[in-house]
Amino acid sequence: MLPRLVGRDWTLWCAPRAVVRRVVGVMLCWAVLVGVAIAGLRPRWVDVLAFAAFVALGGCAVVVSGRLGADLAVFPAARHDLLATWTVAVAVLLPPLYPTVIGLPLCWLAGRADPVRPPHLRMFHAAALGIAGFCASSVHLLLSPTRGPFTVDGLVGSGSAAAAFLSAVAVYPLVASLPGVGMARAGRGDGLDAWLGGAPPGTDVHRPAGPPSRASRLGREPVPARAVEICSAIVVAVLWAASPFLMLAVTPPVLLLQRSLLHADLLHAARSDAKTRLANAAYWRQVAEREINRAARAGRPLSVLLVDIDHFKRVNDRFGHLIGDVILLAVADTLRAAARPRDLVGRFGGEEFVILLTEVGREHAADIAERIRRQVAATRCRLDGRPPLSVTVSVGVATHHGTAGDLSALIARADTALYRAKADGRNRVHLADPLCTPA
Ligand code: GH3
Ligand code: MG
Ligand code: MG
Repeated sequence: MLPRLVGRDWTLWCAPRAVVRRVVGVMLCWAVLVGVAIAGLRPRWVDVLAFAAFVALGGCAVVVSGRLGADLAVFPAARHDLLATWTVAVAVLLPPLYPTVIGLPLCWLAGRADPVRPPHLRMFHAAALGIAGFCASSVHLLLSPTRGPFTVDGLVGSGSAAAAFLSAVAVYPLVASLPGVGMARAGRGDGLDAWLGGAPPGTDVHRPAGPPSRASRLGREPVPARAVEICSAIVVAVLWAASPFLMLAVTPPVLLLQRSLLHADLLHAARSDAKTRLANAAYWRQVAEREINRAARAGRPLSVLLVDIDHFKRVNDRFGHLIGDVILLAVADTLRAAARPRDLVGRFGGEEFVILLTEVGREHAADIAERIRRQVAATRCRLDGRPPLSVTVSVGVATHHGTAGDLSALIARADTALYRAKADGRNRVHLADPLCTPA
């Protein structure tokens, strides 16, 4: 059981039903679009050669991104491959069939660079790329006065041609970000990946209903990366239309861009805790210092919750550390989901978590802590062949109201409150004594 639990041998069939529905829906939609694109195709050798060249260029990007940072602590799925640079160019230069199927070879290559990516996820990515490519290509053909084959004049020679070109380019990321499609990158993503990365294999973590949260504030997906991708696609398309030989000049800068975007990924890796994907203690402290000073200057309250899993050693002793890690991740996910998007949830160390609540006073912090305690207690981890497992947490709450911010003192007060919660029997929230402010 353990290899299945800790390895990443995901199968589609252990996915939640909503995920299966989405994958199947996207694949069916893609298959229909491939059929439509084949029916409308007038094959030309020059298009086939252009397609082969773009597959080679995109493949290069995927392989390079797979190698970039391979020895660094960046998940393969978190690297920027700038794939849309090439796939968007195909969508605006070639008939719809080519952008609809370009994902197949590229996602196969991405799979070789990231072997833990299961085949159904690769197919899903290929289909997502195909749907976005088909839509962009069709919009271009519909709006453009030239209707292809596209020369520089056909792309940007007149106002209406340029408008059609830019509309098609804009359609691509729009379709790719539709909830039904999810994402259109072979190398990284959210959507389906969020499920794949969000819960370890073999587990079924049931959370109380609530909106998904982006509480980590780790800045994982820098918006400029997408803008860079689309801008470079525009440049590539125009240069290709001018002369395919210009690709020799454009490929090195694009590969260099990929390397520069690795900086954001490394930053994310440096700020997050590898096991729980929450902020790590150093980054949490850095943000908390800044926030407490800001709160002190503005005279606003700020609260800190220290959350400790109860009797976690017993879980490890009884089920082993690997299952302990699964529980740890489930608790981290629950905390992230229960916190507001602006709160910073961090791993303090071991089985202790810390939550920074900006502009939250004592009473409100107590309510949030109580909600978190209840949600963790209601979380059930179903591990292969075992009855559902759940844990409880004790929470210490401390609030800062003063004019001079001292984070260490605030954490120490939350820690004292946490110890009282433990001493009172665990699975409870304790508030630190309010500080007496001098009159
Ligand atoms: P209490 O209710 O008093 O907090 O009891 P406890 O057992 O949770 O606390 P104790 O400090 O005695 O033990 C903490 C345990 O947390 C011991 C350690 O093995 C476990 N632990 C710390 N970090 C990790 C981790 O990353 N993974 C796993 N599986 N266990 C961890
Ligand atoms: Mg502890
Ligand atoms: Mg504990």
